[in-house]
Amino acid sequence: MTLLQPGATIGILGGGQLGRMLALEAARFGFDVHIYCPEVDSPAERVAAQTWQAAYDDMELLNAFAEACDVVTYEFENVPVAAVQAIEAAGTAVRPGTKSLEIAQDRFLEKTFLAENGIPPVAFERIDDADTLPEALRRFQNRAILKTRRDGYDGKGQIRLLDPDMAALAAARKMLAEAPCILEAFAPFEREISVVVARTEFGSLTFDVSENEHVGGVLMRAAVPAAIEPDIATRARDAGVRLADALGHIGVLALELFVMPDGGLLANEFAPRVHNSGHWTPDACETGQFEQHVRSVVGWPLGPVTRLFDVSMENLMGAKVLSVPNDLSSADRPVVYGKREALSGRKMGHITRRLGPAS
Ligand code: AMP
Repeated sequence: MTLLQPGATIGILGGGQLGRMLALEAARFGFDVHIYCPEVDSPAERVAAQTWQAAYDDMELLNAFAEACDVVTYEFENVPVAAVQAIEAAGTAVRPGTKSLEIAQDRFLEKTFLAENGIPPVAFERIDDADTLPEALRRFQNRAILKTRRDGYDGKGQIRLLDPDMAALAAARKMLAEAPCILEAFAPFEREISVVVARTEFGSLTFDVSENEHVGGVLMRAAVPAAIEPDIATRARDAGVRLADALGHIGVLALELFVMPDGGLLANEFAPRVHNSGHWTPDACETGQFEQHVRSVVGWPLGPVTRLFDVSMENLMGAKVLSVPNDLSSADRPVVYGKREALSGRKMGHITRRLGPAS
């Protein structure tokens, strides 16, 4: 794998906060970053050397972007696979490649892949036809979640069917008429955890497992260390590494897991990129997830991931970001994404609170 020297150009598909934090890390090592995204005035472009503001199916611009970059990566998983293939066809490596992207984009492929690689997911079934819903629901004892196979994130494209009433069933039928779905058993989990893995062709490193709190399907808080037995943490890390190896993933990925009351782990999903539940890492570890991702995609060795602090990371949603300067203690490390409008429910920043030396 080519090792890039400082001064080389890293292209990032996507212009959100993850692209911004990656671009800042890349700049620290002397790389120029080019952002490619359809949005105008994106958070990432304002810290990048150059922006390509264009649609993901603009083949001419994708070709020119590929020619301008020494390597390309992506910061969100809904980038069309065809865009990545076009960049590869133009002769520029994309890390991680299309395999991680293709599998992560489709919940059915994702859960099948996890199961095939010894990382059991929550019980699931593919469901394409609303008429088969009642029978499938019965197989899940009427406690299930219907999820669209594609384009779901932060709890979007999901309908909870817990002893569902007529209105919920009607909503489910409507969703099924519009998009292929999976039906998934409702998992009565004890807690939610995730593991962030960085992988190069020479090996992987995992960060400490975080315990995550979601509200309405959106991550709100991550705490490290997680209140779990060491054996559970070890199994989570092993699962993360197994997944990264099976994908041949180069870069960072995050695996989200449910801890069940008996201590068993069930996979929920993975993200083939840096992840919100790893936002605490730059402020708590010797090397953070964004730096690890940059190192991986340019062929540099990974940094050490020793955790130095116990932390709690909280997302700053909507207008909450505006109060950051008023509420800071010296142990708080805020990051603000530079989004122009503090719309309610929008992730505007996060704050990592250092609670004390790593326990
Ligand atoms: P997802 O977008 O699939 O990660 O779902 C968002 C959140 O919904 C998860 O973090 C869980 O809190 C909850 N959730 C998703 N799937 C399930 C499930 N099968 N059982 C229970 N809760 C779930």
